[in-house]
Amino acid sequence: MAIRSIVKYGEPVLHAPSEPVKNIDGPIVALVNDMVETMYAAPGIGLAAPQIAVPLRVIVVDLSVGEDPSQLIKLVNPEFVLREGEQRHEEGCLSVPGFGGSPVRPARVVVKGLDPEGQERTYEGTELLARAFCHEIDHVDGLLFVDRLTPLKRDLLKRKLRKKARTDDWEE
Ligand SMILES: [Zn+2]
Repeated sequence: MAIRSIVKYGEPVLHAPSEPVKNIDGPIVALVNDMVETMYAAPGIGLAAPQIAVPLRVIVVDLSVGEDPSQLIKLVNPEFVLREGEQRHEEGCLSVPGFGGSPVRPARVVVKGLDPEGQERTYEGTELLARAFCHEIDHVDGLLFVDRLTPLKRDLLKRKLRKKARTDDWEE
């Protein structure tokens, strides 16, 4: 396993949809393991493959950040089965360090995908888990929380982020 570097706002891989995984083979299992290690090292509660510059539809989520192994979720080709209600809370992103925003998210989601053994898995999430699923699935769709803010907030933040991306002066 290896800790990979996390790409930042402005990298094209973060702003384009990722490809579905066709076969869960050794390299995919290794990718998932690296993603978990990278998420814990950051530390963060979720990571999507494009954040380590791999344009594939793979996400990992662990609200306990490694404290409770039962909370680790690894999903290949995740998709929504259900989204209902609304909630709004501050979010951050490992690819947008130093900034936050409060996009509207569903209050409850049901998500399905494949685990690294190729078994279909379904998860239900509310509150923070629902937000984490939405945030990570947005990543594999090429969207960041920034893209989900109101136009005024989005434009203001994007101006600041473009400046950061130009100067490469990210706060870690
Ligand atoms: Zn993120």
